[in-house]
Amino acid sequence: MTKAGAPGKLIVKGKRLDGRKPDELRPLTITAGVIKNAEGSAALEMGETRVLAAVYGPREVIPKHLADPDKAYLDVIYDMMSFATPERNRPGPSRRSVEISKVIRDALSPAIFLEKYPKTKIDVYIEITNANAGTRTAAITAAAVALADAGIEMRDLVASVAGGKADGQLMLDLFEPEDNFGEADVPIAVLPRTGEIALLQMDGDLTKDELKKLLEMGKKACEEIYAKQKEALKKKYEIEKVTVEEAEK
Ligand code: ADP
Repeated sequence: MTKAGAPGKLIVKGKRLDGRKPDELRPLTITAGVIKNAEGSAALEMGETRVLAAVYGPREVIPKHLADPDKAYLDVIYDMMSFATPERNRPGPSRRSVEISKVIRDALSPAIFLEKYPKTKIDVYIEITNANAGTRTAAITAAAVALADAGIEMRDLVASVAGGKADGQLMLDLFEPEDNFGEADVPIAVLPRTGEIALLQMDGDLTKDELKKLLEMGKKACEEIYAKQKEALKKKYEIEKVTVEEAEK
């Protein structure tokens, strides 16, 4: 039985409703350094999912007794703006945003040399300005760029994408109808250089083999995403270099 409002089919003649092939990502653009007041920041668009990430710190922990003598405390706040969804979304923290903030924190932590910044706090603020599925994965990809842009020492970036299944077809980077009416949603994040998995969640039904296949597809896509992350950072520093050189003339 189809759920209320479900499109008849999610795959038509081997193509998805937005014309993509199963393993094709939505158009992805990442820009580093978009928020001047933040130490590091990034804007990301993956299809119609849009994210802003800002990083502050390492800075003093208040109250002081919460400071860890061995490493930095990474605090992540994921928020979906009230105008980000078709129906006004209630502003402020929700169960969903608290859970997603934790998931993002766990995915980013292995990439950061937290032990290099004892007794400090690194704040990562993430705002979803437009939601069309895959907001947690887009948030991870953007936050990793913002952390690197802040000059925080990292082992690697973290690249992330959702895999899934709709109409019996395994696919990558679900958009809204696939996320709502498909059979499975599998957010994946990897440390691209080592291939280490930083996040793997699964909602829905998949066989063991399908999950394995999706993980492979996701890892491959993360290499593509990683290239865009590096490109965004390179571009930002090229612009800064030119500006400094001009100022010195
Ligand atoms: P993710 O965004 O990581 O896929 P969820 O599975 O929780 O996380 O959400 C799936 C999608 O459902 C979101 O990306 C968004 O497009 C949509 N969504 C989430 N919360 C709301 C909401 N309050 N109102 C409308 N759509 C929402």
